[in-house]
Amino acid sequence: MLGFGWSAADLWLWLAPLVVAPFVGSFLGVLVTRLPRHRPVVVARSACETCGTSLAAFELIPLASYLAQRGRCRHCGALIAPFHVAIELGAIAVAVWVLSAETNPDRVWIDCVLGWILLALACIDWRWMLLPDVLTLPLVAAGLVLTLLSQPDAVALHAAAAAVGYIGLRGVAWLYRLARGRDGMGGGDAKLFGAAGAWLGPAALPPLLLLAAVLGIVMAGVLAVSGRRLSATTALPFGSCIAAAFWLLWLHGGGMAWLV
Ligand SMILES: [Zn+2]
Repeated sequence: MLGFGWSAADLWLWLAPLVVAPFVGSFLGVLVTRLPRHRPVVVARSACETCGTSLAAFELIPLASYLAQRGRCRHCGALIAPFHVAIELGAIAVAVWVLSAETNPDRVWIDCVLGWILLALACIDWRWMLLPDVLTLPLVAAGLVLTLLSQPDAVALHAAAAAVGYIGLRGVAWLYRLARGRDGMGGGDAKLFGAAGAWLGPAALPPLLLLAAVLGIVMAGVLAVSGRRLSATTALPFGSCIAAAFWLLWLHGGGMAWLV
């Protein structure tokens, strides 16, 4: 036992996500920039986006290498996009958030992995206005497997929630298209909504949609205040809002029972 009544295993459980997070964030940065352009994510080594020089092992250390090189490529001097540092900080923030909010030690890693995937999805939708199937569909499966392992009786209900979530949002998109004559929501949004159904169950779908819509309005407000001209046709990354709402309900759903 260490001080404060903590065992070494406890300490490791708390430290490991924080140690791993910057490296996960570094990988997510690569994922977000390459996946939507169909460039290899895992096979290719990380390289400078400007000169293409492969990065040396020490340059792959997140945050530290950025600071050591003052945010520039060692070879060509091109600025490294601050986005890469932002997503590394984001991944650390996810781990800190989980460690401060999660009371069940068995769920720490599940929470972190979900948070990191949702962070990647939110960033991809923000930058590219799409949600890749390679991320959303495994998320549906993972939600159902997790339900099977933790509460087997609820699997059918969660599967139904995934289907209802997907079909429901598809229906909303179809109605929008009928009313406005153009697409207002992508198919990826419906798949992510279905994934949230698989993880959270049917009762969470209405508050999830409400929360995502509120976040969308807040986002539009922030964009308007920051000087972006908004009109009825301005595209907003609604998938980012669904990802954020999914995360809040997963981690704080118990405290949001008043919403359900
Ligand atoms: Zn370079």
